[in-house]
Amino acid sequence: MITVLAVAAHRDDVELTCGGTLLRAAAAGHTTGIVDLTQGEMGTRGSAELRSQEAEQAAKVLGVSVRENLGLPDAGIVNTPETRLELARVIRRLRPRIVIAPALQGRHPDHRESGMLVRDACFIAGLAKIDPATQKHRPFKVMHCITYREDFSKPTFVVDVSEVFERKLEAIKCYASQFEGVTQAGEVYPNGEPLFDVVRHHAAHYGSMIRTKYGEPFFTYETMRVDDVGTLGVSTF
Ligand SMILES: [Zn+2]
Repeated sequence: MITVLAVAAHRDDVELTCGGTLLRAAAAGHTTGIVDLTQGEMGTRGSAELRSQEAEQAAKVLGVSVRENLGLPDAGIVNTPETRLELARVIRRLRPRIVIAPALQGRHPDHRESGMLVRDACFIAGLAKIDPATQKHRPFKVMHCITYREDFSKPTFVVDVSEVFERKLEAIKCYASQFEGVTQAGEVYPNGEPLFDVVRHHAAHYGSMIRTKYGEPFFTYETMRVDDVGTLGVSTF
């Protein structure tokens, strides 16, 4: 059983968007995992086999217990009853409490589509009759990782990843075939700087929102609850 499961379209998406959050969850004693939806066979750089080795290496750096691949078509992810069920079966097997899903918007259609695919798969995984052969399980919470996106004016919350940021970068650097000498990737818009610098600057921006060095932003439709206003963090001034 996994407590925090991150699901994303391509190998390296998780590292780029929420690797720090997975590292912090693992450091807090939670079991973590990753499901990559495709094998990256359409990528301009590297091959699916090479990316597989790199993903394994990055999984070690992130300290996740499982990393699986659903084998959906790269650049062809579609949210259908079939793909939802396929992912729901994995969710039933791994039984995560929290699922980190991609943002609901994205440049790459796979990113956009998988945001809703992951969300829908989590819901139908809780419908007993959808696949009577497997035990139903609906994750408690889905949080959409909105790193690099500009669609929402404010994240619902930001995870402080200051302590683990260098390790997150280390995980990203495992994908040498993808990132060596490049200035853009995934949802990262190029600005002329090396990719790793852009990643750092974005993380610093999100960190500044919670008065810390580095952060990763998330969106949830549901509102976050506060029990004790006396301990509220993030100063107004
Ligand atoms: Zn991607």
